[in-house]
Amino acid sequence: MAFVITSECMTERAADCVEVCPVDCITMGDDQFLINPNTCIDCGACVVVCPVEAIYFEDEVPEAELASILKAKEYFGVV
Ligand code: SF4
Repeated sequence: MAFVITSECMTERAADCVEVCPVDCITMGDDQFLINPNTCIDCGACVVVCPVEAIYFEDEVPEAELASILKAKEYFGVV
């Protein structure tokens, strides 16, 4: 289980999350920032700094954004 950045990031890409992540698990993907599910420690620090509230715990990702979970997993080779 990990935190997930949803598509709201695509138009913002503020990168505040990258700066606060204690384990450096957030990377710029093809069109948005992505959280590495292998290394995220579920601290939640990125959630509060995101200006567009794009970040959710995996279990709480809105239904319309479920593809974001797979997007991160595929990017980091988890699936
Ligand atoms: Fe990094 Fe914590 Fe956000 Fe996971 S929850 S991406 S460890 S800041």
